[in-house]
Amino acid sequence: MTVRTLIAATAAALLLALPAAAQDRAVAVTFDDLPYQAADAALCDPKAAMALTNDFLRMLKPLKTRATAFVNEEKVCEAQRTTLLPKIESAWLNAGIDLGNHTYSHLNIHNTTVETWLADVDKGEIVTRPVLKKRGKTLRYFRHPFLFLGETPEKKAAMADGLKARGYTVAPVTLDNNDWMFAAVYRKAEAAGDEALKTRIGEAYVAHMAAVLDFFEPYSAELTGGREPAQVLLLHANSLNRDWYPKIHALYLARGYRFVSLDAALKDPIYARPDRYVRKAGISWLHRWTFTEGRKIRWEPEPPEWIVKAYEARP
Ligand SMILES: [Zn+2]
Repeated sequence: MTVRTLIAATAAALLLALPAAAQDRAVAVTFDDLPYQAADAALCDPKAAMALTNDFLRMLKPLKTRATAFVNEEKVCEAQRTTLLPKIESAWLNAGIDLGNHTYSHLNIHNTTVETWLADVDKGEIVTRPVLKKRGKTLRYFRHPFLFLGETPEKKAAMADGLKARGYTVAPVTLDNNDWMFAAVYRKAEAAGDEALKTRIGEAYVAHMAAVLDFFEPYSAELTGGREPAQVLLLHANSLNRDWYPKIHALYLARGYRFVSLDAALKDPIYARPDRYVRKAGISWLHRWTFTEGRKIRWEPEPPEWIVKAYEARP
């Protein structure tokens, strides 16, 4: 390479790097499926449930993510629910994490009526609302299970009206990413005691999350004239994130993100946009807005083939 081409290449690299470096990046982290994904037996045993919770929060607390977490009250078995769930939720609140409703039983709207679905929303706040109230906080946020917003215009409108009437603010997701698929494969490796495989899955997960950002950052900026909106990241409370979330956090820091509350992220004007996407699909709001603007949706990267195969081969 000559000096002249080196200078030209450096200038080109600087120009390419400039828009990204100039971005004021912000992300609100959210954890769904509290108290924990796929830990049904442990969530019937107070000691085991608190151990899972405290391990996750010990990882999270020093990182100051300002996260919001969404609860499925049904996950704690009924005999323990009114005593154990408040303890679990208090631990999350003590760690500076806000709580929202994710329905009682993670109901799939495609298989039920709006009436039944809204009853599940109501049942999903029986323990959580008083726990928040005791601390002078209000239960405000709602996260749709599977990110399903209703597969017909009528259902979608009735669900939105029902949530609004109950005083809920919908918590949209922009950075959707399939962490749950890696987590299911990770649990299998954990059960087999395969440390090498766990590391391989964790490293593939971090690489995938970087690829997802490589895709969504410019894709989101297409909606806003080159400015990346404040993002909302969807993750789940599980053993994969207990072990690997610090690496995801570091990835975001390295890309210049500030960690903001959901409240702060939702002040970005993009969240006031209409969403006219009505399909049987749980997708990023970035896709919903892209569709609504009459532009073509492009999909984010899938997890690597070996993760998808391992996921599908589960018993
Ligand atoms: Zn969920």
